[in-house]
Amino acid sequence: MQASDDLIKDFFLQQAELFTDEFYFEEKKEAEIPMNVLDWNELEPKVLSCTKCELSKTRTKVVFGYGKRNAELLFIGEAPGQREDLQGEPFVGRAGHLLDDILAAIQLNRAQVYIANILKCRPPKNRTPHADEIASCEPYLMNQIDLIKPALIVCLGLTAAKTLLRIDYTLRQMREKIYNYHGVDLVVTYHPAALLRNPGLKKYAWEDFQKIQKMYKQKTGSI
Ligand code: SF4
Repeated sequence: MQASDDLIKDFFLQQAELFTDEFYFEEKKEAEIPMNVLDWNELEPKVLSCTKCELSKTRTKVVFGYGKRNAELLFIGEAPGQREDLQGEPFVGRAGHLLDDILAAIQLNRAQVYIANILKCRPPKNRTPHADEIASCEPYLMNQIDLIKPALIVCLGLTAAKTLLRIDYTLRQMREKIYNYHGVDLVVTYHPAALLRNPGLKKYAWEDFQKIQKMYKQKTGSI
């Protein structure tokens, strides 16, 4: 009887781990927030002229970030694509238009939030960022997070989630939890580009954005 009770307990613990959205998971391995945080006037020109990694040789424009610099809601994607590289603004291609539509569906727009990427320069042919490029660029994002002080961070896709949380789960596992990132709630959902490639994922992304809307509303009371 005791063995069967243990099996049932293990089953529910496993289900809670995989599926509940009430389960908070405290990660202890995040990168340290840099001690010497620059203000926006120091940070932006430094990033725009950055040559810390090889991507500086192939980029057209550095994509610093866009939006309200004290936004409650911060979206973090992977890296600029072709259109972003040309315009110097994040999420302006097809994936960006989809993000705008999703934001509109939860009664927000890009001027009310802040949007950034893990990398500020485009990897050639949109390849996956290399570890050394992420290591070089991540301090800029952490500086931005420290200046914005968001109430909620949304990681769009696995690269952003894995970089910030230092964990290696599937996106499906990560989107079921609310993480604590240096005292800020953090959730994970699909990158809009993944939704364009696989429209069947849109219903799950919509569930996530309804959760994001509810959390945003609870934190700000503004929508
Ligand atoms: S990707 Fe980041 S670290 Fe690399 S050159 Fe661009 S701004 Fe600098």
